[in-house]
Amino acid sequence: MSGVVVTGVGYTVGRRPIVADIDLTFEPGRLVALSGASGSGKTTLLSVVGGLLEPTTGTVTLDGTPTWRGTGDPPAEVAFVLQVYGLVPILSARENVSVALRARGVKPGEADARAEEALADLHLADLGGRQVEELSGGQLQRVAIARALVVHAPVLLADEPSSELDPTTRGQVMRLLRAEADAGSVVVVATHDPEVVDLCDEHHAMTDGRLVRARHRAV
Ligand code: ADP
Ligand code: MG
Repeated sequence: MSGVVVTGVGYTVGRRPIVADIDLTFEPGRLVALSGASGSGKTTLLSVVGGLLEPTTGTVTLDGTPTWRGTGDPPAEVAFVLQVYGLVPILSARENVSVALRARGVKPGEADARAEEALADLHLADLGGRQVEELSGGQLQRVAIARALVVHAPVLLADEPSSELDPTTRGQVMRLLRAEADAGSVVVVATHDPEVVDLCDEHHAMTDGRLVRARHRAV
């Protein structure tokens, strides 16, 4: 896989540019931080990168094919941890994770078993049967992370995945993201947490919808 190539990307609402002039390549095997203050455009950029939003200008390609597929449904190769979680309230934690696999053609029994393992990795083994509307903010966030990790997608886009987590759990989540990168995925983490940035291989900072500097660390 050649990675995700962002070329001249802008996203405008009405006449207001939310994101502008983004040129970036996200390489397989690298854990990349996208930082910036609230409102700097991180969520919008991740949404465009992953094919949820159509870029107003420019293109985003995954192995040469645009991630925007004309519908707002991301390609199967892309997994998201959304800032708003996007879990189904009436389903259990296990079902929320399992559906991500079933949607990719995994048989229900195997999907449920793999969902259990993914929840256990995030210390949620005891809560698999719990309806997500009964979970705390931090537990919901971990279910959303489990749902994204369980599919082992070539591209993993995580939007502030540790905002509700204590430092120990945050460290565990970063290890799981690192493992995805080590297995060859593109992993991008939007964050405003400097400790998360420090755990990444590469850092791109945004201000007012634009990249302001790029720091590459040797790996
Ligand atoms: P971040 O994730 O860094 O907090 P966002 O990408 O959510 O930033 O938002 C960047 C800016 O664009 C914010 O000022 C936000 O209010 C605005 N914005 C994002 N999406 C829309 C939209 N659909 N319509 C109008 N404004 C938007
Ligand atoms: Mg955001």
